[in-house]
Amino acid sequence: MEEQSVEKKRQQECRTVEEIIRLYCRGHHHERQGKMLCPECQELADYALARIRHCPRMAEKTFCSVCPIHCYAPEKRRQILRVMRYGGWRMLFYHPVMALHHMLLSWKWHRKHG
Ligand code: SF4
Ligand SMILES: [Zn+2]
Repeated sequence: MEEQSVEKKRQQECRTVEEIIRLYCRGHHHERQGKMLCPECQELADYALARIRHCPRMAEKTFCSVCPIHCYAPEKRRQILRVMRYGGWRMLFYHPVMALHHMLLSWKWHRKHG
């Protein structure tokens, strides 16, 4: 994968994860102002975005949940899995293009790895 497309993928992934966390925060009526996240969700978003920015597997990766490295600390991993379970399907309604792009990547990965 070319450097440019890896960067594009990285940015796309940052936007997707941020949006899923936003859906989760809104859906759980956490306290926040306007479009901002609540402090807890903001902390998780900062953590997840930092992982994505430094992810060494960006060229070949699909979802962190199938990553053999797992760079998340156990507690953060539990948190992000909860958020993903909640927000993943909702993305189909709120951001279908983003969600389908993510599903396509997953489908390609499963085809390649069985
Ligand atoms: S868990 Fe794996 S794929 Fe996800 S950010 Fe960390 S190294 Fe990258
Ligand atoms: Zn929140």
